[in-house]
Order: sequence, then structure tokens, then C-alpha cells
Amino acid sequence: MKTITVPDYYPKFQCSGPQCEDTCCNGWWNIDVDLETYQLYQNSKDEALAPLFQNALSKNRSSNANNNFNFGLLKMRADGSCHFLQQDKLCAIHHRLGATALSDTCRLYPRYLNQFGSLRENSLGISCPEAARLILLNSEPMQFIEIEPESAIDEKPFTSYRFPLHSEGDAEQVSILTDFRAVIVAILQFREVSIGARLMLLGFLLEDVNKITSSEKFSHAIEILPALQDFVGMLSYPDQLEDQFAQIEASIPRKIEMATSLIADSPIDSTSPRFKSTLQTAAAGIGTTQSSEQILSQYAENHAAYYQPFFQNKEYIFENYLVNQVITRLFPFTRGSYLELYRELVCSHSVIQVLLVGIAAKNKGLDDELVIQLFQTFARNSNHNKKYLGKLLDSLHAQEGDSFVDVMWLLKEQQ
Ligand code: SF4
Repeated sequence: MKTITVPDYYPKFQCSGPQCEDTCCNGWWNIDVDLETYQLYQNSKDEALAPLFQNALSKNRSSNANNNFNFGLLKMRADGSCHFLQQDKLCAIHHRLGATALSDTCRLYPRYLNQFGSLRENSLGISCPEAARLILLNSEPMQFIEIEPESAIDEKPFTSYRFPLHSEGDAEQVSILTDFRAVIVAILQFREVSIGARLMLLGFLLEDVNKITSSEKFSHAIEILPALQDFVGMLSYPDQLEDQFAQIEASIPRKIEMATSLIADSPIDSTSPRFKSTLQTAAAGIGTTQSSEQILSQYAENHAAYYQPFFQNKEYIFENYLVNQVITRLFPFTRGSYLELYRELVCSHSVIQVLLVGIAAKNKGLDDELVIQLFQTFARNSNHNKKYLGKLLDSLHAQEGDSFVDVMWLLKEQQ
């Protein structure tokens, strides 16, 4: 097998096992089970496991069921924990049948194994606290390196996301689209301007490329190269980018309303205790039971007194979050239009930022662990559950025009 491209944090990851503060054996709705593992579990004669498999294992009857990777489901206990999670916080299947008996989902988590053209790309998701620390707390810009495949991880043909969907595509086209992805990462890592200005520029880039690729005359990815060069050129003028960003109108009350409606709509009963307590802290800090005027005036004070002092030298946490979202999901080459994907990215960023202001207010400041807890638990609920942000995205879609600039008010931090 060829080498695999990974972010520089990837080889450093190690699961912390029973020491983990938010084990991945808890807090899901269901766990996908691949066909081979489904059959192994269904035929198991293990005296301790067989009754549990009978109770927890079922066929996946959803419309997106796929014969190989999510043929079956393991349902969770009522409290959201896995039926196989032992008191010592270890997995009973791993304990009794060994690591090879784990489903692809459990064996690979929190990894994303993607395929872009002929290239394999692995990365980690931040829904795992150990991965979140590695990814988000590195103050240096994320780099990419080549590693040899690991047999336990890479030898089975599992893919999280792939582009093109059914082939390796045309090598020349894929190579230009690889440049497009490199420009996206370069914009997100352009530290001469604020995160808001970087996301603004990303929106304009996606809008321009989208116009070219959706034109009737479009025939080859080479036609986007001039646009890519233009946007790289804009990075030479950081002051102009900030000036342009300053002209975007803010709407902080709407941002706060979005975050508070997400808190109100969160399915608290099936949410992990860690996410529940994070949301409760954020709600108390935002003051969700007060009048809109009080919430707004406190928000500005809390942003200045408790949020800004922490983030003024740590904007790299948001940068790492955004770059990681982009690479784990092959952004913008997965399901949905560029505009839908952009809306989801800026919406998540915006909600996280408002919740952090609330958490900062309640704790009279922030530290790395509070910030990691929010990013990690938010990802556990949103990255693996499309419905979580669905209502917010639907309402943004309904209220806003069909243009990238129409959602850029979400990027502003202050009125
Ligand atoms: S969430 Fe991450 S660190 Fe925790 S048990 Fe799962 S893989 Fe290990």
C-alpha cells in the first residue's frame, strides 16, 4: 500500500483508555456495525456476550444502510452507554474476543480514513478528548506528513469520505482540486488577519469557484486556476482584507439567539453528562432566563472581560478546529453544495464562540480544559449526528439569501 498523508498530530495519538474523561463507549445513539462483524456477533456463543448481542444488535433498516460498513447497529443503554462497557471502563468484546472482534467503527475511532483521488488521507476527529487536545492546543500551524500504513488500521478497505465517489478520477483534475484544497488551508492558516476575515475570504473563494464550476461552459478543473491565483494574491494585502471584513454588518443578538435556541433544543436526556453540564454552564453564563436587553449587554461585557483575554493569543485553537473540519470531511468535496457546507462551517464556529463566551462568564475566565471540553462535546453531538445542527441550518437557509455574503454576519464577534 502507498504512503498515507496525515496531519502532523496524527502519529502522536494514543487512546487514554480507562483514564479517558469522556469515553467513546458512551454518549452515542447507535454504533454502526459492518457486515463481517455483524455476522461474528450474531453467531457468537460466548456465554457472557451472546445475551448482550441478542439484546443490543440489530440490522440497520435506515435508508442509508450499506451492506459493508453499516449493515448492523449496536444500540446503547438508556443512559447512552454501550452495553459492552465494563465497570473497569474497558470493552467486554475486546476483553473476551480480542481487538480483531471490534467493528470498524470501534476499531478506527476517532480516525477518519479518507480517499481523495488516488491518495489516502487519515486524520482524527475532535469528538475524542485526547485527539481534541492534540489537534487544538498546538500553537504551530498544522502541517501534513507522509506515513506508512498501519496494518491494524489501514488494511481493511474502510473509507470515511471519498472523492470522486466511485473512482480515483482524472489525475490532472484531481491534482488541481488538490491545489484548491491547499489554498483553502492556506487561507485558514493566514495569521496576518483575524479568523473572521479568513472565513470571509474562504466564502468569497468558494463563491467564485462555484460560479466557474457551475457555468455551462465549464469543462475542466484547470479553469479555476486563475481564481486560485487571485485569492493567493489577496494574502499579500492583509490590511485590505481586514478593512473589507470591518464592513460586514454584525448581528450579535441573532448570534446569541441561535446559540440559545440550540441549547434549548438539545436532546438533554440522550446527551452525555459532560455535554449536559457544558451546555448548562454556557446557558447560565449567557443568562438565558433574562431579558434580551440584559443578555446582550452582559454578553458584550463578558466577551471583553473573560473571553477576549484568553483568545487574544490563542486564535490558533479556532484555526486548528477549522482546518481539521476541512480535512476530516474533504471539504468542500462531500455531500451538499459549497454554500451549504460553508453555512455549516460558519454556523458551528459561531455557536461554539457564543457558548464559550457563556462558559467564560460563568467561570470568570477560560482555560485550555474548559475550551477543549466545549469543542469536544459539541463535536460528539454535531459531527456524528447530522440532525443536531439541522434545525439551525434550515432556519438560516430559509431566512438568508442564496449567497455566501448573506451568512457572514455570523463571523462578527462584536457589534
Ligand atoms: S474517546 Fe478517545 S481517548 Fe477516550 S476512550 Fe475513546 S478513543 Fe480513547
